[in-house]
Formats: sequence, structure tokens, C-alpha cells
Amino acid sequence: MSKTSFPITLKRLILAASVLGLFILAGYLLRHRIRTQQSNRQSHRLKIVASFYPLYFFTSQIAGDNADVTDLVPAGAEPHDYEPTVGDIVNIDNSDVLVINGAGLEPWADRLHQELTDRKIAVVAAGQPLADLSLKEDGRSQTDPHVWLDPVLAQQEVNLIAKALMARDPNHRSQYESNRMALVQKLEQLNRDFKQGLAHCQQKDVITSHAAFGYLARRYGLTQVAIQGINPDQEPSPRQLAQIVNLAKREKIRYIFFETLVSPRLADTLAREVGAKTLVFNPLEGLTQTEQATGLNYFTVQQNNLSHLRTALQCRQ
Ligand SMILES: [Zn+2]
Repeated sequence: MSKTSFPITLKRLILAASVLGLFILAGYLLRHRIRTQQSNRQSHRLKIVASFYPLYFFTSQIAGDNADVTDLVPAGAEPHDYEPTVGDIVNIDNSDVLVINGAGLEPWADRLHQELTDRKIAVVAAGQPLADLSLKEDGRSQTDPHVWLDPVLAQQEVNLIAKALMARDPNHRSQYESNRMALVQKLEQLNRDFKQGLAHCQQKDVITSHAAFGYLARRYGLTQVAIQGINPDQEPSPRQLAQIVNLAKREKIRYIFFETLVSPRLADTLAREVGAKTLVFNPLEGLTQTEQATGLNYFTVQQNNLSHLRTALQCRQ
């Protein structure tokens, strides 16, 4: 028995070793496959570049954990005269979607048009179809791009961005849709807060630094009197400045608004001239590092804007 049992045991050992080997091989292949699938999924994770803060904020809120979103304009800079760096161009080139405002705010995107088309990068100009206000500057009509400050138009921008994300990444459609709905609801609540907060005010004239509040002023029945133009670098003529001083004195304006990203020099001069104080009115074109560090975002800044408007316009509940 012992003579015959030895080869049988050997055969069994060889068989067991083969089965074990197959298990090890299958395990290796399975692990390899899972790793490949994971890396494929990671490499297909949607990459989005947004041109400046509000678009970055809206896109991040819609994307949630399903996509990587970067903000092109760095903290503390403002988008009107921003020129993308070489690094920015590489970043855009590696992205799937570029979210811009449009309406003349990002002329560099027009220059990149052919390259973006060739690289099949989807471009969403979320504010373009909504920008129906214009101002006459230097003898020519300029489209007002500042639609994101109106919480109602902001909802439409959000819808356009979400649509583009869903088209490009249909696997996460339901998450994008539920994030979109949550964001639209918050913007609608903000709209109700502005409507209610500005319903009973003694004044309607808002003297601002640059002409960023046209859409917000129109939504809530205010009048924007801007010291500078649609772009912050457009300074007023002495005659225009004199007109604003006269208006401020006539209407007994108590507050002149200034911005965090634009020099307060003109607002300070004007405030001294008419005996008014100054207050921040933030057009959300970018947050400073300090603002980011203190956790400010689109909604908290807009609530601050509302609170400052209520002070300046002497509103009551
Ligand atoms: Zn602006």
C-alpha cells in the first residue's frame, strides 16, 4: 500500500499545487483588472476649469465629489483684465469642460476658440444668453457681463452649467441633477431674502465703485450710480465725478460703496467730498485669501451685500 500511495500523494500534491497556482494567477489577474478599472475611472474623472470665482463656486457645488474643478483667476485678482498664464493654458488643455461667463468678460477664450474646438473641450458661456444690459462707454455700447450677482439669473447660469456636465458625464447625471436642484433652491431663498430685505427702504440710489450691480439693481428696483465703468480701470471724467457729487448731496446719500479687489481711492475721495461713509459691496469677481480663509463664499458674501445695502438705503423690515 505504501508503495502505491506515494505516487498518488505526489499526484495529489502536484494537483493541489496547480490549483493553488491557478488561484494565485486568477487573484493576480483580478487585482490587476480592478487596478486598471480604477485607473481608467480616475483618468475619466471629469476635469473642469472655471474662469473666475462665482462660476467656480457654482460648478463645484454641482460637481460635488464627481469631478475636479479649478478656478483660473487666482485669489485676490479680478477677472476683467486677467490674462491666462502658460500654466493656465496647459490646465485648460487638459480639461473636459471650460466654464466661462461670456458677454465680453473673457476675451482670451475667444482667442482660444479654435484650439478648444480641436481638443473637443466643451465650453459653457453660462452668462452669455442672460446678459441683456449694456452701458455706453467711450462712445460705444458695452455689454454688462455681471449677471451672477442677480440670484435669479444665477439660477439660470447654474442650469446651463449642470446641463453641460450631464452631457459630458452622463454616468453621474442623477448626482449632478440633485446638486443642481439644491443649489437652485438656495439661490431662490437668497432671492426671497433680497426681495424682502429691500422692500421698504428710504433710498434707491446705490453709488458703487465699478458698474457691477446693474442686474442686481434692476431685479430689486434700485438705481446703480457707478463711479467707474463696466471695467474697474475705466475712471470717471471730472464732469462725471461732479455729477455724482451733486447727486449724492441732493439725495443725502449716507454711504458710498467700495470693493475689496479695486482701489478704494475714488470711493474715499467721494465720501469725503459729500460727507458720507464707505461700506463694502462685493461684486464676487474673486475672493481675497483672507476672505477664503474666513470661509466666505457666494452666499455669505451676498448676505453681507444685502446687509450693507439695507444699512445704506435705510431699509426696515
Ligand atoms: Zn466687474
